[in-house]
Formats: sequence, structure tokens, C-alpha cells
Amino acid sequence: MSYILLVNTLSTYNRTTPYIARIKERYLLTAPNSTKQTYHIALDLPTDSLPFTVGDSVAILPQNDPNMVDRILSAMHLSGEEPIFDPKTNAPLSLRSYLLTKANLSKANSRLLSLLNQHPLLEDKERLNSALLSHNVLDFLRLHSTSSLSPQEFANSLLPLMPRFYSIASSSKVFPNEIHLTISFLSYTQQGETRYGVASYFLCQQAALESTPIPLYIQPSNGFCLPSPDDSIILIGPGTGVAPFRAFLQERLADQAKGRNWLFFGERHRASDFYYEPFFTDLARKNFLRLDTAFSRDQAEKIYVQHKLQENGASIWDWLQQGAFLYVCGDATQMAKDVDLTLEHIAAKYGSLSLEDARLYLKRLRKEKRYLLDVY
Ligand SMILES: Cc1cc2nc3c(=O)[nH]c(=O)nc-3n(C[C@H](O)[C@H](O)[C@H](O)COP(=O)(O)OP(=O)(O)OC[C@H]3O[C@@H](n4cnc5c(N)ncnc54)[C@H](O)[C@@H]3O)c2cc1C
Repeated sequence: MSYILLVNTLSTYNRTTPYIARIKERYLLTAPNSTKQTYHIALDLPTDSLPFTVGDSVAILPQNDPNMVDRILSAMHLSGEEPIFDPKTNAPLSLRSYLLTKANLSKANSRLLSLLNQHPLLEDKERLNSALLSHNVLDFLRLHSTSSLSPQEFANSLLPLMPRFYSIASSSKVFPNEIHLTISFLSYTQQGETRYGVASYFLCQQAALESTPIPLYIQPSNGFCLPSPDDSIILIGPGTGVAPFRAFLQERLADQAKGRNWLFFGERHRASDFYYEPFFTDLARKNFLRLDTAFSRDQAEKIYVQHKLQENGASIWDWLQQGAFLYVCGDATQMAKDVDLTLEHIAAKYGSLSLEDARLYLKRLRKEKRYLLDVY
């Protein structure tokens, strides 16, 4: 009873009262010649005061790039020391603090444009949407006169900076005082400049090891968790989608789980992009894991995880018939749809079902919580 009370008291971190962690370790999982930069990040925190289950995510409250904040203040001819009230909580703070920690500087909205007297643009919905997609707050401030804008009006006109979620890539049974993350560092070109994803820049580049405060809380998964140790699991996690499956497999090892484990991992190149290769290949060597990989750009024709699923269709059907649980994590726009379609074809072919019945079969698996997705 007292233990439950203690855990409940200690686990009440949330968006308004985050836990403050530090980065203990950070290294690239991709080789220097890779087309991507994906980082392993270990956060230093006592997991007994921040309880989680494998499959949960961490919500990070990122900070904007201080360089971007300086450029915005300079475009507005302000120092940043101007006192304002937080538009949401009414708490007093400086404009600089507000821009650093609370405002979305990547995306402007029509409120700012209206303060900048951009009425013709506001009246043309198509032009407005395209302008909002291709310009950040600084771009608009540079294009239009800001002289009539007070610091408070400016703060009120900005969208809020939202938390970013990252799948937990470690088990507290193996790393009791750490949470591991697998983060793809996002960069893109906008208005002729290289720009970075706010949270991935904050975590992968800006935050100093063991000193920069990282505000966070646990975002529980919606049922994306391990079944009983005797059940078999099929894990489909290309790219950073592999993160929760590293945690699943650490936990299954710690539990000495008897159920079978099968992982499908995919990326561009084996030589530069095989995240956590030693861990997964070692488990495969010990027959704890069946491992199939798809490196899309290592040969002339593109090979993705769904092709590996197709190749192994008969075995997948067999595992499913014996009660295995299916998990998919990673890209929602293309991968999850392609995987779903492939599973439908596998069910139709090896279960001798019509495509419609194969669809119903997958629907039933979902309802029984044996086909679980965590896609983004
Ligand atoms: C449950 C869940 C789990 C997740 N787990 C992980 C994980 O384990 N690892 C991981 O790396 N990510 C994960 N994500 C994604 C993560 O939350 C962030 O969305 C991601 O890191 C990008 O955030 P950011 O702040 O770096 O980029 P943001 O600042 O949010 O930038 C992204 C935005 O940049 C803009 N943008 C991108 N490209 C362009 C372009 N070419 N031109 C103009 N604008 C562009 C778009 O508006 C896009 O929405 C997860 C998401 C969810 C919901």
C-alpha cells in the first residue's frame, strides 16, 4: 500500500510539472558517411521515481535554438529583456525566455500575419497555406515591418511549442537509472537555409552532456506493451521504429521469456545504418531472436521490410496461427500502410482467405490486441 502511494506520488510529472533529466551519453548510431544522422541518447534519471512500461514514450519539452531566438529579437529591434506575461498562464517572464521555451518559432499563424498587416495574404486561403508552410516566424518578420508590434502582442500571436514524443528504447530491468532514446536528427532546406527540427536539434546537438536540463514526462502507450513471457512476438520496426523493440527484447531477456522473438529491421544501408547491430545480431546468434533485415539501397531494386515479410509469409502465418503478437512501429505515412497490405496478402495466401476475409482477420487481430501499432 505505502509502495503504491509512493510510486503514485513520485510519478505525477506532466507537461506543467516535468521531471528535469540530464543527458548522460550521446553517440551516433549511423556511420559518418550515412545520409542520415540517428543518435542514441541515454538520459540520466532514477526510473523508480519515473516508472514506465516498455512500449511507453517520453514526452520532451524542447527549447528553441538560442541562435534563432537572437535572430528574431534582432529582426524586431528588441533586447529580449522586455517583461511580458505568458499568454497561457499569465506568469511574468522575459520575452527571451518565452521565445526559448514556450513559443513555436517554426510555424507562424494568421494572427501574426494580421498583426503584420498582411490582409491580402490572409484573404487568399491557398496562398496563405503555402506561405505558412514555406516560411517560419523569422521569415515573416524579415519581410514585413514590425514597428507597430509590442513584445506582448508578438508573444500572444505565436503558436505554443508542443512536446515531442520519443519511444523508450531501454528496459528499466536492465538500465534502472536511465532511459534510452533513438533519435533521428531532422534537417531540411527552407528559404535557402538549412533548418533543423526543434526537439531533435535540442537533444542531438544543442544540449550539453550532463548539464543542460531536459524537461520531460512519461507518455504511457495505448496498449503497445509486451504480452505474457510465453507468447511469441513479431516486431516490425524499420528506422527509429526499432527503438521500442530494443526495450522489448531487453525486457524479454531479463524476464527469461520463453516466447519466441522475431524482428524485422530496415534502413538504407547495412554498413552505415544498422542501428544497435551488435545487440540484435548477438541475440540472433544465441537463437533468442529471429532477425530479418531489409537495406533498401544496398542493391539495384529497393527492398523494404514488407518484402521481407512477404518472403517469410508462410512462417508468419504459422506464428500467427500459434498465437503470436504482431507489433509495428515507425513511419505512419508509407511503411505502416505497406506492411498492413502485405499482412493482408499473407493472410489471404496462406490462410486461403478472400482479400475481404483477410482484412477481417487483421481487424480481429487488432480487436484482440494482437496486432499493435505505434506509428508517427
Ligand atoms: C508516439 C511517438 C513516438 C515517436 N518516437 C520517435 C523515436 O523513437 N525517434 C524519433 O526520431 N522520432 C520519434 N517520433 C517523432 C518525434 O516525436 C518528432 O516528431 C521528430 O523528432 C521531429 O521533431 P523535431 O522537433 O525535431 O522537428 P519539428 O521541429 O517538429 O519539425 C518537423 C516539422 O518540420 C517541418 N519540415 C520538415 N521537413 C520540411 C521541409 N522539407 N520543408 C519545410 N518544412 C519541413 C514540418 O512542418 C514538420 O512537421 C515519435 C513520435 C510519436 C508521436
